[in-house]
Order: sequence, then structure tokens, then C-alpha cells
Amino acid sequence: MDDDVSDVDAVVTFEHADSFVGLAWVHCIRAGYDAFPLDTYRDAGTALTNSTGIHGAAVGETALGMMLSLARRLHDYRDAQREREWAPPTWDTPFTLRDERLTVVGLGTLGRGIARCADGIGMRVDGVRRTPTRTPHARTVYTPDRLHDAVADARFVAVATPLTEATRRLVDAGVFEAMRDDAYLVNVARGPVVDEDALIDALAAGELAGAGLDVFREEPLPASSPLWDLDDVLVTPHASSLHRAYHEDIADLVRANLRNRNAGADLLNRVV
Ligand code: NDP
Repeated sequence: MDDDVSDVDAVVTFEHADSFVGLAWVHCIRAGYDAFPLDTYRDAGTALTNSTGIHGAAVGETALGMMLSLARRLHDYRDAQREREWAPPTWDTPFTLRDERLTVVGLGTLGRGIARCADGIGMRVDGVRRTPTRTPHARTVYTPDRLHDAVADARFVAVATPLTEATRRLVDAGVFEAMRDDAYLVNVARGPVVDEDALIDALAAGELAGAGLDVFREEPLPASSPLWDLDDVLVTPHASSLHRAYHEDIADLVRANLRNRNAGADLLNRVV
């Protein structure tokens, strides 16, 4: 990355560089700003904004796609197609998403996007967030201290929280134990929100039916990870929010903030 910023007072960036500290404003192209040293920005008087608010539709559709594939077995058929095999499932393997229960952990932009898509297909959606206020498309909203209750009856649990000290390994062996044995985990948040070793153990022991994973403890996912080989684990390369107009959404956000800045108004999505 070319991080020579000596002639500018603001940057739009995917990731942090030390040379940005001291600029007037840094806009992060991602919603997750966990890799930015917030105290350093604060001390330097550098404003940091992020891109939350724009990923709901893309991530919602990706999470729904993962759930559809796991329920309707589309990944099995694609695997068989590569071998030119006609491989109908056993009669009791596929199921429909309609009326299945989904718990979305984190009901911000991503979580609501997932809840909207799932509600649209007839799933029964509950959620977990810090502020237990009514949230569109969620029937019951739990607080994090009731996470085990929230996941206990769910066929799918979708994780959509930011990575913070409170959410690091939030989804751990205890959560997998609380989940049904025929339940699936979907993680579109950040890898470290899930205890990946505990997830692998739970999958290997049949304590979970499978998973749709877009994010991992280490990215790219190392070739040695057992997650690559599990039949009912879908691995996507941190791509759930990508779509061809992504850059236009970012540009809209940056333009709006530039207008605010020039007008002396508060920046949207201000983190620091
Ligand atoms: P938002 O800030 O809009 O929403 C975050 C949600 O998480 C809120 O509902 C918040 O609760 C909830 N939350 C925070 N802490 C906890 C906790 N301890 N327990 C339960 N819920 C909690 O963020 P976004 O939806 O835009 O993004 C979420 C994260 O997803 C990002 O930080 C990023 O890491 C990741 N992401 C991944 C992408 C991908 O490509 N896979 C793309 C975009 C984002 P409350 O509503 O009460 O504040």
C-alpha cells in the first residue's frame, strides 16, 4: 500500500497505516474497525469513520444463501456435478427454511439484513443485541447475558457482532453445547468472535450439524484447517459483503461526510 500521505489531510482506506495518525480524518472502507488503534487516533485528534450501514443487503443475501444451501443441499449437488454424478439425497436429508428458527446475534446493519432476508422466506427470527428494544423482523430480542437461551431452540445461529473485547470468543463451547445437535452456525462477523477450535471440535463430535463461514481466526484460512474438509461446512473467502456497486456505496458515504465536514457538521459513522 502507498501510505505516503504527506500532502493530504484525509484518507479513505481499507486498513490502518501509522502515517495516517495525525491526519484530520480517516475513513475506513470496512464496517469492522477492530484493527485500528483507536486510542492512538483519539490522542492524535484524528477522526475515524467507518462504513457501517451499507452491507445489510449483500451480507443478508449471503447468509440466506448459506442457509438455503445447507437446507436444500445445493452444495452436495454441486460437488456431485463436478464428478458427473447423479446423486439424489436420502429422503430425510433436505428440509425447508420456512418455519425454521434463526437467532441472529448482533442486530445492527448486518444482523437486520440477515433478519430481513430470513423473515422474507418465512423463517422465525429472534435476535441478540445489547439494547433489547424492538427490532424489525425479530420476534424476541435477548440481551447478551441470555445468549444460551436465545440459541437453544434455533436451527440456525448467525453471528453479526463487531469484534470487541466483549465479543471475542463470545460463541464458545458453552454456546455450542446450548445449541441443538441439528443446528448450523453462520459467521459473517469476524473470525475471533467464534472460538474456532471449539467449533471444529463440536462439528467433529456431531454436536453441531454444520456451518457457513465467511470469516476466520486467520485469513486466508490456512490450507491445514480441518474446516476445508467438513462436508457440511461452507467456506467463503470473507466475501459476504462484496458486490459490484460496493465502491459506489462507499463513495456516497464519503461524499456525505465531506459535505458534513465542510459544513462543520458531525461526521456520519464516527468511531473516534
Ligand atoms: P453495527 O454497529 O450496525 O451493529 C452491531 C450489532 O452488534 C448491534 O446490534 C449491537 O448491539 C450488537 N452487539 C455489540 N456488542 C454485542 C454483544 N456483546 N453481544 C451481542 N450483540 C452485540 O455493525 P454492522 O452490522 O455494520 O457490522 C458488524 C460487524 O460485522 C462489523 O464490525 C464487522 O466486523 C463485520 N462485518 C463483516 C463483513 C463481511 O464481509 N463478512 C462486512 C461488514 C461487517 P446494539 O444494537 O444494542 O448496539
